[in-house]
Amino acid sequence: MPQTTDRECDHATLFRDPDYQQMFEAKRNAFECPHSQERVQEISDWTKSWDYREKNLARTALVVNPAKACQPLGAVFAAAGFDGCLPLVHGSQGCVAYFRSHLARHFKEPSSAVSTSMTEDAAVFGGHNNFLDGIQNARELYSPKMIAVSTTCMAEVIGDDLNSYIQTARSKGAVPEDFPVPYAHTPSFYGSHVTGYDVMLKGVLEEAWDGIEDAPSPGSAINLIPGFDGYAVGNNRELRRMLDLMGVSYTLLGDVSEVFDTPTDGEFRMYAGGTTLEEVRQARDAKATLSLQQWCTEKTLALPKGVGQETRSFHYPMGVSATDAFLMAVSEITGQPIPEALELERGRLVDAMTDSQHWLHGKRMAVYGDPDFVYGMTRFLLELGIEPVHCLSTNANKKWAKEMRALLAGSSFGQATQVWAGRDLWHLRSLLATEPADFLIGNSHGKSIQQDLGIPLIRLTFPIFDRHHHHRFPTLGYQGGLRVLVTLLDAVLDEVDRKTADNSISYDLTR
Ligand code: SF4
Repeated sequence: MPQTTDRECDHATLFRDPDYQQMFEAKRNAFECPHSQERVQEISDWTKSWDYREKNLARTALVVNPAKACQPLGAVFAAAGFDGCLPLVHGSQGCVAYFRSHLARHFKEPSSAVSTSMTEDAAVFGGHNNFLDGIQNARELYSPKMIAVSTTCMAEVIGDDLNSYIQTARSKGAVPEDFPVPYAHTPSFYGSHVTGYDVMLKGVLEEAWDGIEDAPSPGSAINLIPGFDGYAVGNNRELRRMLDLMGVSYTLLGDVSEVFDTPTDGEFRMYAGGTTLEEVRQARDAKATLSLQQWCTEKTLALPKGVGQETRSFHYPMGVSATDAFLMAVSEITGQPIPEALELERGRLVDAMTDSQHWLHGKRMAVYGDPDFVYGMTRFLLELGIEPVHCLSTNANKKWAKEMRALLAGSSFGQATQVWAGRDLWHLRSLLATEPADFLIGNSHGKSIQQDLGIPLIRLTFPIFDRHHHHRFPTLGYQGGLRVLVTLLDAVLDEVDRKTADNSISYDLTR
């Protein structure tokens, strides 16, 4: 093979060498029943036609490349937001390896979670013994302050009952009676990571508030639930900064910004930051609970509401009007005025949008991702004068689609937008092949659409595997809006440069 100690090269270069090319060709001919290039091209072209689009959209019994992850991944993410909390997933080991690697690849940080390692015998006879051994080992080996339990498909299919298993674990001494073990059943054949986040967070609140008999004594403090957010490292810090500027007393219910951003200083931190259990207990006495992502907290919000708190929810407050609405709600509830420093930030964002408006006006963009992200992103696109072509969310429902259509109806830029709830990325490929956009906004999974259709991908939501450190910068609030604006502009101007690079007419120094 052409790689030697004198000639080392990256695989992208190495695999283009004739030796490797011949090997690939021989493998293809021997094992892959190859069709001719002409036939492959013919089918490829057909899959980009209106005829194929109609067949593809009629598909009901198969999902191809869904833009969502499974429930326990969201539960592991939610659990990581609490001080000293170890996520334990009752089920198969491979699932947990997937959750951990998914989070680690996005955040470029280790993601700690343990599994009860169910195999074939547990699938037949039940995972009871695995659970008892697993929870005891996890506590003794990793010294958590709390273990948050969720489930994989296997445990759900056989009907393992977490509540009874946890009671047994306590009675047999696998965990002490007073050791906190919140839990959530997270069957992945229903919902998505967003559902898993919701039910796990609800489980943590139930665990902390259970048994408190006193009537809540609300002060002026508020609770904030960030929701499942791949940009949580930057966004949670930005939320804190804005609320500190306002002088608001608050608790973030679940904060992963430290555990997914630990420093390299010689010390491994399995647990870092996060909301303490005591803070969660005190959160019961808050005046109100605000969810930054409505679709991530449908079940959870019932708890604060049940103890008399005011609850409000938003859709990922990105851009000017959404940040305005969020800050005004905080101000209204707490009585704290919006300070001049934030008003200045608002003005600067509006100024930046105005400065660059001519590059964005009328651009056609498609958006996909979680329901709240797509809503928040679309709202900001409309503010910027961008025309959303397709808005797609695999893990959204008809109610979301209705809300989206109401949002779009309120803007002249949204009149022709098509909303797709419950559709996957293979649907999106057909949609974009027949009704193209100038740019695609989503996560790294849109890369194959970019490659196939030549539509530039702008990465702005979880998961981002093939670019680094975006999550360290906020996308929420006015500062976050500025960051998103610059990301969109960079993509647009890079494309202008790319398209004009071969002539001397418009390859300009100043844009
Ligand atoms: S969908 Fe089910 S089997 Fe697949 S990773 Fe998720 S929990 Fe495991």
